Amino acid sequence: MISEKMQVQVQNSSIIRAMFEEGKRLAAIHGAENVYDFSLGNPNVASPEEVKKAIVEIINKEDALSIHGYMNNSGYEDVRAAIAKSINDKFSTAFTQDNILMTVGAAGGLNVIFKTLLNPKDEVLTFAPFFGEYRNYVSNYEGELLVVPANTINFQPNLEEFKKKITPKTKAVIINSPNNPTGVVYSEATIIMLSDILREKQKEFGTDIYLIADEPYRELAYDNVEVPYLTKYYENTIVGYSFSKSLSLPGERIGYLVIPNQVADYKNIIAAANIANRILGFVNAPSLFQRVIAKCLDAKVDLETYNRNRELLYNGLSSYGYQCIKPEGAFYLFVKTPIENDIEFCNLAKKKNILIVPGTSFSCPGYARIAYCVKYETIEKALPGFKALIEEVK
Ligand code: PLP
Repeated sequence: MISEKMQVQVQNSSIIRAMFEEGKRLAAIHGAENVYDFSLGNPNVASPEEVKKAIVEIINKEDALSIHGYMNNSGYEDVRAAIAKSINDKFSTAFTQDNILMTVGAAGGLNVIFKTLLNPKDEVLTFAPFFGEYRNYVSNYEGELLVVPANTINFQPNLEEFKKKITPKTKAVIINSPNNPTGVVYSEATIIMLSDILREKQKEFGTDIYLIADEPYRELAYDNVEVPYLTKYYENTIVGYSFSKSLSLPGERIGYLVIPNQVADYKNIIAAANIANRILGFVNAPSLFQRVIAKCLDAKVDLETYNRNRELLYNGLSSYGYQCIKPEGAFYLFVKTPIENDIEFCNLAKKKNILIVPGTSFSCPGYARIAYCVKYETIEKALPGFKALIEEVK
């Protein structure tokens, strides 16, 4: 008999699983090329050539025992130093290897930091709409995720509501920009206001509130939009980064945490995070890919492929009368469903072989997420279906 906690988890993950099953069922009937699957955030742009070159070079030139061996639980010192330097060069920060902890993707990093910080019933705040896994990561450590309702005008965080939700039990706030599912980049003005609120509340309650910046989409930003580096705005910021999307390596499970010296209780946090990485069973981030990414810190995926998709999808949907904000980053578009019930709308879309995810899954009903990390032709072929859908329900 599985645990009671896992029974709930199994129940809750059924929407995404059902969609996955549905996709397979539709592909068997209509042929995979006639099913337009916009449900998953799996990059469709290949990793840059540098990644392949680095793998080959490392395998051919470096000592096998050290490539594949155990190491410090925080990761290879030289890799962490290279990452610190690269961040410093880009954002004028002053990190060293002691601020970097290599993780098993962003997901691993978030689990490490929540394990490090949370006591049972500690509150973690996030802004709707948000990546649904946050709920699981927080509940893994008996924390409580509290959701600030969406600001559907521009999907910047709703700071008025945020202020009201901070309590003496608020241990952390998790934000994600560029955002999954909206593609919105939180502006510098927003970040400054959010930081001011946090400082004010820390003072009022005499607590430390950690801002966790979940940044797997940092490099996927269009039209030269600026993505502020949050450690510069708020002292208690911890950054979670991942190469899953920035180098199209989601299966390799590689990322890192940045834990700056200025963070309250830095020494204990960095030591505890190192141990959390081990005792959660990750032990350390994958060794080969630590070495690979250290050689590819300036490499970039072909952003233009995503950008073309973004333009095609956004312009197409807007011309049919759909309401959506043009995404500034990531590879998602969050569209207002032309009927109120987003789940029903996604079911209607499924009848046209279009798979999209209801906003309800991101705590924002009345919307749907379209992941455009797909072939350009998939969007071209799906657009008439989107047009027919809005005409049908109007
Ligand atoms: N955070 C957000 C907002 C995501 O969208 C994802 C993956 O899609 C993750 C974290 C997890 O990323 P990783 O593959 O690096 O664990």
